[in-house]
Amino acid sequence: MTLINAYAAQASDKPLAPFQISRRGLRANDVHIEILYCGVCHSDLHTARNEWGNTTYPVVPGHEIVGRVLAVGKEVTKFRAGDLAGIGCLVDSCLSCENCRNGLEQFCLEGCTGTYNNPAKDGTGMTYGGYSKEIVAREEFVLKISDQLPLEAVAPLLCAGITTYSPLRHWKIGKGDKVGILGLGGLGHMGVKFAVAMGAEVTMLSHTPSKEKDAKELGAHQFILTSNDAQVKSVQNYFDFILDTVSATHDYNFYLAMLKTNGVMTCVGVPPTPAQIPAGNLIFGRKSLAGSLIGGLPETQEMLDYCAQHHIVSDVEIIKMSEINEAYERMLKGDVRYRFVIDMASI
Ligand code: NAP
Ligand code: ZN
Repeated sequence: MTLINAYAAQASDKPLAPFQISRRGLRANDVHIEILYCGVCHSDLHTARNEWGNTTYPVVPGHEIVGRVLAVGKEVTKFRAGDLAGIGCLVDSCLSCENCRNGLEQFCLEGCTGTYNNPAKDGTGMTYGGYSKEIVAREEFVLKISDQLPLEAVAPLLCAGITTYSPLRHWKIGKGDKVGILGLGGLGHMGVKFAVAMGAEVTMLSHTPSKEKDAKELGAHQFILTSNDAQVKSVQNYFDFILDTVSATHDYNFYLAMLKTNGVMTCVGVPPTPAQIPAGNLIFGRKSLAGSLIGGLPETQEMLDYCAQHHIVSDVEIIKMSEINEAYERMLKGDVRYRFVIDMASI
């Protein structure tokens, strides 16, 4: 069995460090990929530090994976050795339940298998993610990647991209809609790009004054500093839709007040503590508070194709694998413009 270089956290209070893993031998419907780049999602940090209380150690994070196909199993039809390929947050699901048949593998009724920190369906142990040199996954969970876009800037589309694209599509955001994107990080900056591309009037809601210039450059029409009372007052009862990407504990009620009658706020950020929401804040104005989880495989491919067509990629800062712990600290401080991507040649 060949050992593959990876980086793992061994405990919630330990930094990530070199670790060796093995990948399964190629099955008939498997694709074997050499990982070239892997984006760094805040979910990687939540998981490495067990902030959601569900981490099994050692954990190898990483679910924004792009690379080149090394080999394919004999029944694989979509890929050949040498092709570009991507893997996002999922590597398996039953593919036969109602949700899977509807392209919502993330809501598989049998339980989907995450790219890391999930028990593999074949009982071989926990899945290991993209902070590694190679990965093997079944063909249905491997995405086609355009060779027309810079590969390193495509990697974050596999999670940050689909997680923001999917709710904007589901709630049919388009021309004439007033959309607030809450939190300008990895997810937030993709949310701004997509909402602008879909024709909405986009407002960036941020607690970081220095991000105003960037927000405008990303295409936001307006910037509201959430600590500025006058600015916050100007967007009360204002938005049709708010996409909440904030990773830290925050008061949802503060933002629900910014929704118009019938407005929808969709949470994609997963703070470690639960929200406290008086029913009255939803009842008055018939407001909705919703959630959204990544996106299914067909929609992820649709999003990647949309990005290739509209030349949308992530704004990235390339790091070496050995810089991951520093990158986590910087991500916590909001000091990333706007996604770290690991160059896997450095592992
Ligand atoms: P990120 O790059 O760290 O961005 C989070 C942003 O939240 C920050 O840039 C900051 O924006 C804002 N923020 C941070 N602390 C804050 C605070 N105390 N108060 C107010 N705002 C604060 O993280 P990310 O990778 O985009 O991920 C965001 C969240 O989405 C994480 O919880 C992650 O686990 C989750 N996630 C969910 C899904 C899903 O399927 N639902 C998928 C991927 C990730 P400003 O500086 O502009 O305020
Ligand atoms: Zn993610």
